[in-house]
Amino acid sequence: MSHAHYIAGEWLVGSASAPNLNPSNLADVVGEYALGDATHVDAAVTAARAAFPAWSTSGVQLRADALDKIGSEILARGEELGRLLAREEGKTLPEAMGEATRAGQIFKFFAGECLRLAGETLPSVRPGIGVDITREPLGVIGLITPWNFPIAIPAWKIAPALAYGNCVVIKPADLVPGCAWALAEIISRSGIPPGVFNLVMGQGRSVGEALVNHPGVDGISFTGSQGVGQRIAATCVAQHKKVQLEMGGKNPQVVLDDADLKQAVELCAQSAFFSTGQRCTASSRLIVTQGIYPAFIEALQARVAALKVDNALMAGTDIGPVVSEAQLAQDLSYVAIAQSEGGTLLCGGQRLQRETEGFYMAPALITDTTPGMRINREEVFGPVASVIRVKDYEEALAVANDTPSGLSAGIATSSLKHASHFKRHAQVGMVMVNLPTAGVDYHVPFGGRKGSSYGAREQGRYAAEFFTTVKTAYTLA
Ligand code: NAD
Repeated sequence: MSHAHYIAGEWLVGSASAPNLNPSNLADVVGEYALGDATHVDAAVTAARAAFPAWSTSGVQLRADALDKIGSEILARGEELGRLLAREEGKTLPEAMGEATRAGQIFKFFAGECLRLAGETLPSVRPGIGVDITREPLGVIGLITPWNFPIAIPAWKIAPALAYGNCVVIKPADLVPGCAWALAEIISRSGIPPGVFNLVMGQGRSVGEALVNHPGVDGISFTGSQGVGQRIAATCVAQHKKVQLEMGGKNPQVVLDDADLKQAVELCAQSAFFSTGQRCTASSRLIVTQGIYPAFIEALQARVAALKVDNALMAGTDIGPVVSEAQLAQDLSYVAIAQSEGGTLLCGGQRLQRETEGFYMAPALITDTTPGMRINREEVFGPVASVIRVKDYEEALAVANDTPSGLSAGIATSSLKHASHFKRHAQVGMVMVNLPTAGVDYHVPFGGRKGSSYGAREQGRYAAEFFTTVKTAYTLA
């Protein structure tokens, strides 16, 4: 029996389904999940439209209570959800449980936040008139999510959407429907009326495109690759739909001569390789000044070679498998591309066999690369990091900014002057000083610049920018 779509408060199994395999152990089937099509999308959007008038005008206590209940259940079941996540995506168990906890905290945060949605009253330039600026729900919103954060990203879209009075249809990545399904099951018991929240599982080309194109959808919040994001944005603009895109990066991590060597090595190893490098915020370009370069490379190579790559559910694993066969092929192909461009493979870069059959790859560290090489311009999205040697801070900053992406950037330095300058001049949405680029909080804005993001920021109270629409009312006093 396959796991069903959730539409209009009912569980609906379609005619098609697909198994979800554990990338650490291909003999382990996580579950069988329904694969939807345009008819499921239409039913879900119709249900959401029908639910919108009552939900958008409901007392916010109803929303606050429901979101709080969802958050509490996720937190109480953190270990079970973390295991599911590790099984279906390949993140190590501690990382997976951390992500499940974060999803619970996000729902708790927005339970409070929906009570705090504020407007403004301004004086009019004309006498005897009052001006009120209020925020109203946007409407029915399509949420399209990637595979690499299968519970946190659905949570950071669903929670603010519902908090601010919208109805949603979520389409999770077809590689990892399990966490979104588990979330839907929790939401189905939260007291939220039928039709307010809907889940349709399936592929991007069918379910995703049908959702983006549906005339009953007012906005799309998308996280995924730049290519898909650009196509979605073009459709949304043509159809006058509000759109928010969070996409990939080619994030730089700068290491200066005055950095604490041990700290710099650890944060680079974590930024580049933890979560198997499958984070949009991963540092895949390490930009190192010449004075520290020899000692840094030697220490980093030793640290990377010591990382334990194995089954994500096994205690002691530092790096789990790559998510899929196709992603593994892409990661390996970029190692070959870098070598063909003149890069030197210092360690890793090959497929590994482990006790269970899975998509294991030894983390690859590539030196002798230059900013123009493909390895330094295109997102790999795996355990592959390239190193660029530079003269000084000024060159490091220029190289860091020399990319079409602009999500996150990090600097390792003991110089307050360089840290302050970098915070101001790195052309990204998020800067880390002496911290891995990968770790972010859930209550502050998340997003980037250039090709990495489009539209309003996600997370925290900034989420209201996308999930509400502003109305200005003039009243004769
Ligand atoms: P993807 O673009 O292949 O897919 C993302 C989602 O879009 C999936 O649900 C997919 O089914 C759907 N989709 C695919 N084609 C579609 C279409 N034509 N119309 C509508 N929907 C469609 O990305 P992915 O491989 O799942 O995720 C990896 C990418 O996500 C990386 O580029 C990564 O950097 C990015 N990412 C960005 C952030 C961020 O917040 N900036 C966070 C996580 C991941």
